[in-house]
Amino acid sequence: MKPDFPNTSIAFARQGNFGLWRAGLLFRFMAYPLLVKWIGGFLHWSLKAGLPVSFLIKATVYRQFVGGQSLEECHSLVNDLNRFGVQSILDFSVEGGDSEEQMNAAYDETLRSIINASENPNIPFAVFKPSAFARNALLENLIPNQIISPDLQVYLDEFRNYIQNLSQKAAEYDVPLLIDAEDSWYQHLVDEITEEMMSKYNQKRAIVFNTLQMYRHDRLLYLKNLHQKAQEMDFIAGLKFVRGAYMEKERIRAEEMIYPSPIQPDKASTDRDFNEALKYCTRNITRFVIFCGTHNEDSCQLLVSLMEENNFEPADKRFWFSQLYGMSDHISFNLASKGYNVAKYIPYGPVKFVMPYLLRRAEENTSVAGQTSRELSLIQRERMRRSQK
Ligand SMILES: Cc1cc2nc3c(=O)[nH]c(=O)nc-3n(C[C@H](O)[C@H](O)[C@H](O)COP(=O)(O)OP(=O)(O)OC[C@H]3O[C@@H](n4cnc5c(N)ncnc54)[C@H](O)[C@@H]3O)c2cc1C
Repeated sequence: MKPDFPNTSIAFARQGNFGLWRAGLLFRFMAYPLLVKWIGGFLHWSLKAGLPVSFLIKATVYRQFVGGQSLEECHSLVNDLNRFGVQSILDFSVEGGDSEEQMNAAYDETLRSIINASENPNIPFAVFKPSAFARNALLENLIPNQIISPDLQVYLDEFRNYIQNLSQKAAEYDVPLLIDAEDSWYQHLVDEITEEMMSKYNQKRAIVFNTLQMYRHDRLLYLKNLHQKAQEMDFIAGLKFVRGAYMEKERIRAEEMIYPSPIQPDKASTDRDFNEALKYCTRNITRFVIFCGTHNEDSCQLLVSLMEENNFEPADKRFWFSQLYGMSDHISFNLASKGYNVAKYIPYGPVKFVMPYLLRRAEENTSVAGQTSRELSLIQRERMRRSQK
């Protein structure tokens, strides 16, 4: 049952020749970090200035990494992915705002995405970013292990309410809800609220999922403590495992504000803890549902091997694999072809508002060592294979 990741004919079965050519061109461009920075910055500025560049963005990066402007616009993509056994998670990728009006709008959209998922068996999860529901004053002024002021307490209560209400709605609609992880300095609040939600709604099945960023050196210990709480309070811990996306920002802040960096000393330590977490949860699977969010082939292979060794069926719903839309199709489609549970994270939103997400994706693809060249060489290999047929 082992997936064959280098199999490009399965990986790109969805893509026509033109789509492959366009994706290749984009990844080739992303191999030049300075160019990406300049052009990305220029396009972002042009959009803000009202210049007519959205068609250019839509035809290139947006098309590669974004599902559409709205939930409805993503439907055809969801159906199309499902033809290959790949499911979808629709992620409203508009960056959080600071006003009550913006937070309410984010809440309404997240609720709509929960209802939408409840009506579509090809959308197994809903998702949100906690920062969409927190005032900047709260996010910027929190320092780990410090008591917060009464003013911030009001914002904290508001933050808690949003997460509680969404968890309750997810339970009502019976839709598992992923809560993304962002900056470490307020993650302890998210952890605390999420644990409370898990103890309330995850008695029979995992509805609320926290995210563990394994680039943090304290997360393996956190996982073991959470396991103990799950046993004591009799709940199932839904956990999304990722390596973590904000390493530079974390290191810079810790240095500037003079506290120890929460980040692992090197990539090998992050990899080790990520894989250890998968092993730990598989060994104790009665208390966990594992959502493995990674483009790392070794970690995906490891989880496949762990499942095999322990005689878990590929379709066992306690194990999920997920990659971002537009990236690592060779992992997603090859896993799905062997019957594993795979769901693509598909961002959606108006061009203007998803631009920060797109810039992050483009930058990540230039900075994650080997990612761009891996995508590019797989695309080239598939184009070559097709031309020789
Ligand atoms: C489905 C999905 C959901 C995601 N959700 C979130 C989320 O909620 N929150 C979030 O933060 N990220 C999220 N991410 C992004 C994720 O954290 C990674 O940034 C991204 O996936 C790259 O890591 P990798 O495991 O795919 O691959 P790899 O290329 O194997 O790993 C790259 C990662 O390793 C770590 N790393 C690199 N160099 C070092 C170093 N010197 N020291 C220590 N660590 C290092 C960093 O985390 C880096 O991103 C998500 C990714 C996916 C696929």
